[in-house]
Amino acid sequence: MVGTNVNILFQNALKIIEEELSSLSFSTWFDEVKLIELKDGIATFQVPMAIHKKQLSNNYYDIIKEALNQVTGTNFDLEFLLEDEINVNKEQTSTQVSIQEEEVGVPSTFLEKSNLNSNYTFDNFVVGNSNKFAQAAALSVAENPGKMYNPLFLYGNSGLGKTHLMHAIGNYITNNSNRKVLYVTSDQFINDFININKKDERGTNYNYVDFFKNKYRNIDVLIIDDIQFLGGATQTQQEFFHTFNTLYDDSKQIIISSDRSPDDLKLLEERLRTRFCWGLTVNIFPPDFSLRTEILRKKILAGNFEQDIPEDVIEYIASNIGSDVRQLEGSITRLVAYSTIMGGASITLDLAIDALKDFINKGVSEKNDIARIQKIVAEFFQINVEDIRSKKRSANIAFPRQVAMYLCRVATSESFPKIGTEFGGKDHSTVMHSVEKIENEMKVNQDLANIIDKLKKDIG
Ligand code: ADP
Ligand code: MG
Repeated sequence: MVGTNVNILFQNALKIIEEELSSLSFSTWFDEVKLIELKDGIATFQVPMAIHKKQLSNNYYDIIKEALNQVTGTNFDLEFLLEDEINVNKEQTSTQVSIQEEEVGVPSTFLEKSNLNSNYTFDNFVVGNSNKFAQAAALSVAENPGKMYNPLFLYGNSGLGKTHLMHAIGNYITNNSNRKVLYVTSDQFINDFININKKDERGTNYNYVDFFKNKYRNIDVLIIDDIQFLGGATQTQQEFFHTFNTLYDDSKQIIISSDRSPDDLKLLEERLRTRFCWGLTVNIFPPDFSLRTEILRKKILAGNFEQDIPEDVIEYIASNIGSDVRQLEGSITRLVAYSTIMGGASITLDLAIDALKDFINKGVSEKNDIARIQKIVAEFFQINVEDIRSKKRSANIAFPRQVAMYLCRVATSESFPKIGTEFGGKDHSTVMHSVEKIENEMKVNQDLANIIDKLKKDIG
């Protein structure tokens, strides 16, 4: 298989590879690499210089192979060729990777690129009920950095678009002003901080201190992703506290993301959590069915695939793949890869069912299972699934628990006693009571009826 699709598959594999490497290594070794062909179990790459052959086959072979496998579901052997060799060897079946030391040149790109990902913009962020508040808040911050909401704290489960929105803010600001934006994950912050404390023989490593101060203080916008990983590193928290204060006092915009709310960042110092709530805290929720289909449609358009993907296939994916947008994207890639590997077979519902059976089967075996419903309901209300299964009686847990019990009753064939045991050992009359209560409430409360409807769709 050759052409656009190969390129699309490789772009997806590159995203996976990029996550594994430092940005310097990634841009050095992968910027100018092209995937030329996937054929007879061999993936052929064109590389710019001989040194790339050596690096890629010695140090990155497994990473590339694994990434291609994740995207295509197929194991390929890898072959790296220079442009000349591709033209000369076109007819030859296989070429050994052999490099003479003296061929080895120096790669051109040793400069670190901007750490913002230009693919993540507001334009390609699809907005629906579950994320419209987050998107609006992000856009206001992008338009008025340091003025509207400081800090902006975005939280929600993995795969719901937090990182996307943060890069979108950064890209918007750099495209519309001269402000300096720094995007880091809390891991990178911790690493930089650890480097400061590496002492040389004389005591402190002043270069690193300067580097750190310059990197984190000499900016206008700090975007820090996945702050939950800062928990536990006490000294780093103190340093982050100082960084935060310095920037904040200077009216520099700070944007933070996390997989949970500031209150639930138990490992973080109180004074940090308090500061995180000074600005605006926004929760981003899992996409409902209609947003899932919308996202799929947009991704398909943006993907420019050779084949059409019909509406029934989109609905099939949207109703079977839950809430993680990353998985929605993965399913399209898998589908296109499958069709292409099958010689360009047109994408029908049957083909989709076949192509996605690994993806979706997992879902089916759990389908209508109590644990799955508990997870979906907990996700929706942003509480811990353990709490739903516990005896805790606080209202913020009791109500979602009643909703979950109701859904278990209508969406599974489980008995009242069985449902009771799965919800903190309640007896069957409590379950019956909860189910009745939700049924009655739905009749008079349209909002609740809508929520239940949406959850039912999510359950499938
Ligand atoms: P998180 O940081 O919350 O784990 P990401 O921002 O990494 O999630 O999103 C995962 C993937 O899903 C990314 O490729 C992102 O572009 C995509 N995505 C998430 N939400 C949306 C959306 N509303 N519209 C378009 N793409 C989205
Ligand atoms: Mg993220």
